Amino acid sequence: TKTDGGPFSWQDLPVRDDLRALTPYGAPQLDVPVRLNTNENPYPPPPELVADLREAVTAAAATLNRYPDRDAVELRKDLAQYLGHGLTGAQLWAANGSNEVIQQILQCFGGAGRSALGFEPSYTMHRLIALATGTRWIAEPRGADFSLDPAAALAAIRRHGPDVVFLTSPNNPTGNAAPRELVEAVVDAAPGVVVIDEAYAEFFRPGTASALSLLPGRPRLIVIRTMSKAFAMAGARVGYLAADPAVIDALLLVRLPYHLSALTQAAARTALAHVQALLGTVDAVKAQRDRIVDELTALGLPVVPSDANFVAFGVSRAGEQPREAGAVWQALLDRGVLVRDVGLAGMLRVTAGTPEETGAFLTALKEIL
Ligand code: PMP
Repeated sequence: TKTDGGPFSWQDLPVRDDLRALTPYGAPQLDVPVRLNTNENPYPPPPELVADLREAVTAAAATLNRYPDRDAVELRKDLAQYLGHGLTGAQLWAANGSNEVIQQILQCFGGAGRSALGFEPSYTMHRLIALATGTRWIAEPRGADFSLDPAAALAAIRRHGPDVVFLTSPNNPTGNAAPRELVEAVVDAAPGVVVIDEAYAEFFRPGTASALSLLPGRPRLIVIRTMSKAFAMAGARVGYLAADPAVIDALLLVRLPYHLSALTQAAARTALAHVQALLGTVDAVKAQRDRIVDELTALGLPVVPSDANFVAFGVSRAGEQPREAGAVWQALLDRGVLVRDVGLAGMLRVTAGTPEETGAFLTALKEIL
């Protein structure tokens, strides 16, 4: 019953106590000309793919009275072929975005009485899905430059003995990648499963290595990928993981039957058949990413080197009166450019857009500084 006389709200419902301090996660969805706040690919799917999608979705629609393949066998084979590294469909698993993959991992390996450890700042959903699944969250700090000190990282893992370790590489929101040797050492030190979130792996700079090559002989290593970023398919909601087949057998215990719709499976397979055209935009995006790093550096701003399709940067030059990140975020928005205030003091994150969008961001920022 309501006691305070105000309108009925979710707080009046018997919501779990541990959720009450939360606010719904997500960037503001503002209708702004230049949206560089959610790390999407700025290029829509090419027309040939759109035409094939129409055909594939129409074909799938003809049998929508039937449930889809609950194990998404063909899609997993296609994903394995895309990743290479000798992987097979038995080592792949797909879900509605990598967020659902993360949720399934924590439902399976986390939960009440268990813990998950992450190196912050990092992708907030790791912590939030841990909370939502009743998994105790252990936050370990990254260094001043957002890298991980191997000795400190391994000591934290040994000290806490978490059931799940999350390592985002390249890291969101900072863009820096974890060296392969560190990933290897983390897997060796961790008592439970180790999740390397490689949502942005297609944007790696030359010389940065994926954790996929570490999979053989490491059955507790899980590598997450997504079709939301490089593949320009964020709206389709397809994320996936590569791991030992035993991990996938475990996930079958928690996944909802038929979680991946027939339309989603058809769309994802069609996109994978166009992988070359789709990934053709990656070099253009990387060029804009590098342009942002170069131009912001030339402006004298602190910039985190990025292996992703976004750049984290400080909004004040050394020795200058420090600006508030929120004020710069608002000033950019006033000029029609939406970036992300990721809650890092004095820093913002901007997604690499088309040359025009990136140019609009740089012009607006120069006006503000
Ligand atoms: N992991 C990381 C590191 C991300 O940045 C994102 C998207 N912001 C995701 C996972 C989730 O992406 P999706 O659910 O669209 O695959």
